[in-house]
Amino acid sequence: MPTNADCIFCKIVAGKIPCLKILQDAHGLAFLDIGPIAQGHALLIPAGHYVTLDEMPAEEAAALLKHLPALGRAVQQATGAEGFNVLQNNGSAAHQLVQHVHFHIIPRRTGDAFHFNWPAGKYTPGQGEALAERIRQGLV
Ligand code: 5GP
Ligand code: ZN
Repeated sequence: MPTNADCIFCKIVAGKIPCLKILQDAHGLAFLDIGPIAQGHALLIPAGHYVTLDEMPAEEAAALLKHLPALGRAVQQATGAEGFNVLQNNGSAAHQLVQHVHFHIIPRRTGDAFHFNWPAGKYTPGQGEALAERIRQGLV
């Protein structure tokens, strides 16, 4: 399992930095975010040090993500939230600040203070088909 001695989340996985732990197994750890967008905002991180999601072996990602449904349920139940977002940032352009893969589980309520700017666009004829094909070609 890759690790990075300078990484804050690797230190949390190793128990060298404290966290408010929710669950831990051989593949990952869930704990409360230190700067919650809403009460109960949790992070799910792999035990191994991977900077972005695309670096992760598929089996490691699957073993980690199996926890998401129960985590989402438990966070909602504990906070009385009406819903939750799963958010996962890759790269500084995508607002990734901590260089170790993490999934945010963010409890949501109607009218709360967390707003997305969601500038939905559209494709010109043929543009979407060509792009979907390029993406298919890139799947490995
Ligand atoms: P990002 O912008 O990289 O997706 O989010 C990083 C998240 O990690 C932030 O929400 C931040 O509050 C959280 N975080 C950063 N350092 C620590 C820490 O030492 N402990 C905990 N529990 N959360 C942290
Ligand atoms: Zn790390």
